[in-house]
Amino acid sequence: MEICCQSIVENIMDYIDNELDDKTLNALEEHIHICPECKSFVDTYNKMLRMSGDLKNKKFVTPEIRERLKNLIKQKLKPN
Ligand SMILES: [Zn+2]
Repeated sequence: MEICCQSIVENIMDYIDNELDDKTLNALEEHIHICPECKSFVDTYNKMLRMSGDLKNKKFVTPEIRERLKNLIKQKLKPN
């Protein structure tokens, strides 16, 4: 499976939620290991989630918020 930075953005929610299949998960983690930008992106994202609430109680993350976060992240990762 070919993984690019865009795939990280698209799968970050499922990655954090542990909802990825093994194949995708492995591919993502492999990319994160070799790509410092995506690593810091995932770290930042994790921190952000932790700051906004307990990770174990993520009911506050409605589909609407997820969508909004996703768009924010996409904008952030857009090449200049
Ligand atoms: Zn990357």
